[in-house]
Amino acid sequence: MSRLVVVSNRVALPDSNQNGGLATALDAALKESGGLWFGWSGKVARGHSGELHRTTSNGIDYVTIDLSREDYEGYYNGFANRTLWPLLHFRLDLVDYNAMTQAAYRGVNALFAEKLAKEIRDEDIVWIHDYHLLPLAQELRRRGVRARLGFFLHVPFPSADIIAGLPHHEKTFGALSAYDLVGFQTERDLERFQDYIRLFRGGQVAGRGELREQDGRRFRASAFPIGIDAGGLARLAQNAVRIPAVKRLQASLNGRALAIGVDRLDYSKGLPERFRAFERFLERHDDQHGRVTYLQIAPVSRGGVASYRALRRELEQYAGHINGGHADPEWTPVRYVNRTYPHATLTGFYRMSRIGLVTPLRDGMNLVAKEFVAAQDPEQPGALVLSIFAGAARELDGALLINPFDSDGVADAIATAVKMPVEERRDRWQSMMARICDYDIHAWRRDFLQTLGAVER
Ligand code: ADP
Repeated sequence: MSRLVVVSNRVALPDSNQNGGLATALDAALKESGGLWFGWSGKVARGHSGELHRTTSNGIDYVTIDLSREDYEGYYNGFANRTLWPLLHFRLDLVDYNAMTQAAYRGVNALFAEKLAKEIRDEDIVWIHDYHLLPLAQELRRRGVRARLGFFLHVPFPSADIIAGLPHHEKTFGALSAYDLVGFQTERDLERFQDYIRLFRGGQVAGRGELREQDGRRFRASAFPIGIDAGGLARLAQNAVRIPAVKRLQASLNGRALAIGVDRLDYSKGLPERFRAFERFLERHDDQHGRVTYLQIAPVSRGGVASYRALRRELEQYAGHINGGHADPEWTPVRYVNRTYPHATLTGFYRMSRIGLVTPLRDGMNLVAKEFVAAQDPEQPGALVLSIFAGAARELDGALLINPFDSDGVADAIATAVKMPVEERRDRWQSMMARICDYDIHAWRRDFLQTLGAVER
């Protein structure tokens, strides 16, 4: 079996608390074949970028690299988070293009390649993750790396015209053809990427997932919808009823139905639109007055970026506005919380919820949607209200699918979910849960690695 090398912006070190689904799956893959995980250390160094740290645990080598303040600002806060993130989420209006941050992004990718090239052997399989590292394969090939190189994009791939709105887009996105395999979350993302290759790169779709660049280079591209550890999560949720925070939330509801949203505080998640929809629900469905409590958990994210700070202010005001207009002395319709919770507690919150509200304006997959489903009680499952613009909507056909821009439509879906008979909730839940268990996080990583391993070099 070939050795596996995983590369991602952040590395889940063995002694860290990063025990999310992806970290667990990549760790399991590395344990199976032995391997190396490479990425940024998370440290901002006083001097230059480039100092390496090494540690080994359970047969896995972890190599991390420090970045200077300047590189961190340019590569991470700059081009990755202010330019690529909004661009890939269809938000050209929020793209902050700057030639200097683009150069820093390229420079950090080149630095990663310089250090990593010395670690990689020809027979290795290298799996590179996400939008921070789009040009890494090109930089590795320039340094003579011959191993198989695969890439997975965790976020959406937008339409080709949006990509073309980025000055010098070909430097970043044209570089994807240096990979042997490029993976996307959904078939739609794949189709939009194929359009980009045809329309803006002069390439061709050669069939069977193969693409051909104008210069004749061939590479593969395919969809691999990421999953979760469904079995593990279901067990966690079943036991979560004993957690004190979960019990306290249950007691505080006084028998009312709970609608829950759990999202990083990010503009892609459609939070102001969701608040608006909940307000419309209260206005349009008088009979539901005092019957539903909406809990929005939204930990602050990227507080250093102005658009995120503005979003936070807007939501604080909006929550106050809705409560001011609709609350009773003994009922507050919206509870808005800006903190993170241990995964076990969150699964308990999901399980006691009658409604899961997952209404992003754009999302590569949205793991919260899948976690909500996996956490439900099979006898009394809640209903999921899900945006058609989340990658998860392609798989979760038992959800109430909504357009997040249509506040009355979302409001009515919330009402439908509250009133949905338990038999219907069970039917819908079973079809979603079957899919989530069938293609879980481990099936996903095996599928990707087998496809990459089978590519002819
Ligand atoms: P994104 O990657 O854009 O943040 P996803 O829904 O795909 O969106 O993944 C978010 C992950 O973060 C999920 O695994 C979710 O459980 C976790 N998460 C979100 N909010 C919280 C929170 N308040 N506390 C703990 N974990 C959270």
